[in-house]
Amino acid sequence: FVTERERGAGGPAAVAASTPAGPYAQAFGGRLVLVTGAASGIGRATAFAFAEAGARVIAVDRDPEGAVRTAEMARLLGAPEAAAETVDVSDEAAMEKLAAKVAAEHGVVDVLVNNAGIGLAGTFLDTSAEDWRKVLDVNLWGVIHGCRAFGRQMAERGQGGHIVNTASAAAFQPSKALTAYSTSKAAVLMLSECLRAELAGRGIGVTAICPGIVNTGITATARFAGVSEEEQRRLRKKAVRLYGRRNYPPEKVAEAVLRAVLRDRAVVPVTPEAHALRLLSRFAPRL
Ligand code: NAD
Repeated sequence: FVTERERGAGGPAAVAASTPAGPYAQAFGGRLVLVTGAASGIGRATAFAFAEAGARVIAVDRDPEGAVRTAEMARLLGAPEAAAETVDVSDEAAMEKLAAKVAAEHGVVDVLVNNAGIGLAGTFLDTSAEDWRKVLDVNLWGVIHGCRAFGRQMAERGQGGHIVNTASAAAFQPSKALTAYSTSKAAVLMLSECLRAELAGRGIGVTAICPGIVNTGITATARFAGVSEEEQRRLRKKAVRLYGRRNYPPEKVAEAVLRAVLRDRAVVPVTPEAHALRLLSRFAPRL
């Protein structure tokens, strides 16, 4: 797995950069890439971007039809091979089974993108233990299961690889309105940085992607803690109205994912507010 740095500036990567898909096609062509949460939003755009670079793509989601649609489109976009798998990432046994199946049918994954996640808005006092569990099960445990199942295979193979975990700008900044979600994403960020240090010696890169607000379905499906079903619907509509206007496209996050893997970046804020929050979190005193 050859990164831009390994090839050297001015080398083949610089030449290939003159064509749009050049460096990506060179790095990812024929590589096996697995993306979770690939049925919609950032995950789908990421699967498509890897497909356009000529990677073999496995689209994983708990939504079976959505995963199949992504795999079909990935093939049309140039993936030499594309498959869909229906898995709930929070289910440890299912993730272990998936890793064994993928290894048997396609080989060891070169790039793993742990992207599946759910939104939960609400203060600490309004959030039930059940909602805490749901958000941590998917957003944190889903990433842990992915890293364990596929990271072990990468390490055993001994030919390097890369793991991308989707955290969030919410990981940089405390917010009383997003306590459980932000906690899950801060944990993903720290997990990614620890794992990066652990796996560096084995040639496996780990990246935490931290988008700000991106125009995806998450706003329409997020839950709101401590409110009735009727109120949920009203708040979701309001959130779509508010955040739908922020038109940062998932395709730009996908591009950042490919660039981050190519350049082996540790923590990558995406969107202007994510960059600002990252700077503030590093240089300004916390409240
Ligand atoms: P999305 O709702 O469009 O996509 C999420 C996908 O994950 C869906 O296809 C869903 O079916 C799948 N999924 C959810 N739970 C799953 C589970 N248990 N097992 C398997 N698949 C599951 O949302 P998105 O905005 O594309 O979110 C992708 C990631 O980006 C999430 O981790 C999210 O927290 C993160 N993120 C999003 C934003 C944003 O503004 N959209 C900002 C920062 C971070």
